[in-house]
Amino acid sequence: MESVTKTFGSMVFDDRVMKATLSAKVYQSLKKTIDEGKELDPTVANAVAAAMRDWAVERGATHFTHWFQPLTGVTAEKHDSFISPAPDGGVIMEFSGKELIKGEPDASSFPSGGLRATFEARGYTAWDPTSYAFIKGKTLCIPTAFCSYGGEALDKKTPLLRSMEALNVQALRVLRLFGNTSVKRVTSSVGPEQEYFLIDRELYNKRKDLIYTGRTLFGAKPPKGQEMDDHYFGAIKPRVAAYMEELNEELWKLGILAKTEHNEVAPAQHELAPIYSTTNIATDHNQLTMEMMQKVAARHGLVCLLHEKPFAGVNGSGKHNNWSIATDAGQNLLSPGETPHENAQFLLFLCAVIQAVDDYQDLLRISVATAGNDHRLGANEAPPAVISIFLGDELNAVLEAIEADAPYRGAAKTTMKLGADVLPKFNRDATDRNRTSPFAFTGNKFEFRMLGSSNSIACANIMLNSAVAESLKLYADELEKASDFQTALHRLIRSTIQAHKRIIFNGNGYDDAWIKEATEARGLCNYRTTPDCIPHLLDAKNVKMLTEHKVFSEAELKSRYEIQLENYCKTVLIEARTMADMAKKQILPAVTAYVAELTEAVARKKSVGADLPCGYETETARKLSALADGIASATAELESVILKIKDIPDVLPESCEIRDTLLPAMGRLRVVCDAAELETAETHWPFPTYGDLLFGVR
Ligand code: ADP
Ligand code: MG
Repeated sequence: MESVTKTFGSMVFDDRVMKATLSAKVYQSLKKTIDEGKELDPTVANAVAAAMRDWAVERGATHFTHWFQPLTGVTAEKHDSFISPAPDGGVIMEFSGKELIKGEPDASSFPSGGLRATFEARGYTAWDPTSYAFIKGKTLCIPTAFCSYGGEALDKKTPLLRSMEALNVQALRVLRLFGNTSVKRVTSSVGPEQEYFLIDRELYNKRKDLIYTGRTLFGAKPPKGQEMDDHYFGAIKPRVAAYMEELNEELWKLGILAKTEHNEVAPAQHELAPIYSTTNIATDHNQLTMEMMQKVAARHGLVCLLHEKPFAGVNGSGKHNNWSIATDAGQNLLSPGETPHENAQFLLFLCAVIQAVDDYQDLLRISVATAGNDHRLGANEAPPAVISIFLGDELNAVLEAIEADAPYRGAAKTTMKLGADVLPKFNRDATDRNRTSPFAFTGNKFEFRMLGSSNSIACANIMLNSAVAESLKLYADELEKASDFQTALHRLIRSTIQAHKRIIFNGNGYDDAWIKEATEARGLCNYRTTPDCIPHLLDAKNVKMLTEHKVFSEAELKSRYEIQLENYCKTVLIEARTMADMAKKQILPAVTAYVAELTEAVARKKSVGADLPCGYETETARKLSALADGIASATAELESVILKIKDIPDVLPESCEIRDTLLPAMGRLRVVCDAAELETAETHWPFPTYGDLLFGVR
């Protein structure tokens, strides 16, 4: 293997390549766009396109594509080749500035939630120069935003970029108040930890549920599950290690800073974490990472499952969104500083996050809501659907002291004056280990842990950036008016703690007692399912905030509402149909065949000698026959619910019916099928079991 320092980013048109291939003038102009969000000088585009083409063609690329993130949650690309006919009958490789800047994919095949009238099928993609172009296979991929011809965002990148801008604008206002005149830009950064399962491809191919839905819809608990924790602590198996090694190499070539990898709690479950980067780039990279995870798995005879809950009764997969905000000078605004001045500023930004999470709990919950993630958040699995913030005992004590104007217990016995006293040092490690909190402060960043493993991280970061921008805006409005900054600051921090401390919870988030306290005593939201939370996207306060910061227009919000509910309905309906299919065509025939074998055995025994005991065969055949009847009736019931749901014209009542009627019917069918699995001979069961799948990769 070539050295990593050499291959890292070798397929990325990054700053090193730009410097080497662009003229100084073009480079400076492009750099201004990238670093400061300045509008791109159109004359620059042609020069950049030419340099990109030469660089890409040299590396074997024959095509280019505008790579974008439609509202399906996966990435989309439409390939065009560089070739253009030459007068002599040959071809030349062409790529113009116009082609770099703008593309026109047919938008009609992507969900628009009503934004794109059917007569206007076109949409356009626009180059995002803040995320580097890269080569994947033989294609130069240009990260782009995707909009309708009316200018409405049809993707996840556009609102993400807008939310970053909103945060930048408001954070700069606050920093100016602290006397910082030199900072030009504030950006949010993310390091997403990605969980996934790896299973054997041959076994996968035998299960229609995995193929059609990404998760198992049947499967009895195996004799061994995750109770021994031996997988988590165990060595990585050779086949998995080979997979991880190749995955790292592929990601490094794409400039993705894949850093940590390890086994996770469940058997066959693993995790990959990159080094953090700007939210926008981290989002692109996470999409690419998920894609490469699946591609590389195929080369190793494996399948990478990114579903949130591929196996019932086994830990699900999530994504931890480590998030912070920093200035272009490299100052992390969520890092407690060394001086009283820095401390006060840190506390204000901390308050901004606390208030944002409290005021917009619903938006954060919505940002991670999918049918798949409901299996984690709505169930007895980490984290719960109730959002709260973990700060750690020490930081919590600091906030309590400020709120009460009382001495901080760890410090000198005087009350702490913000801007004059230094915060007591708190131990970073001590803050890090609450694994049950949905939103934990981990020393210099927050870790939002509710994301599902297959979610695009764009959604969560759009809401997080926007909500924090809103807190900062309120603070700047107030502080800009103040005659005495220090006094006003102290008052603002105190009143924020008082108003929003209900969202802070440092205990065990899995505890039933907490859910009761959170919802009853503290009045926090508990939206267990997608249909429970999505309607709140259109609540007046949410529409006001998101439109005021120009992150979404009202029409765009309505479209997200439609699409998220539509996706929920489609997902569960496909699962339900797959269940009915498997029950009728695989499970019932298998059970019937086995019952026939048992009863034939009884008949044969009887023909040999009437006194031969055949209690076992008879009893098993009886049990299984009863279960088969149960399966048949549960299947019939499921099918009738599916039919009923088809007739509901509106997406909200449809999703509620799915939650209230269809999912329970699926649950009932599963129970009888899983019971039958436990009574049926291994030789007859029609597809691999949980034991096979979870322990099949050696
Ligand atoms: P752990 O959560 O296991 O303690 P780390 O805290 O080192 O691990 O990092 C977890 C993730 O958080 C990594 O992706 C890392 O790059 C990211 N991270 C670290 N610092 C920041 C930061 N300031 N902003 C955003 N992400 C960060
Ligand atoms: Mg972590």
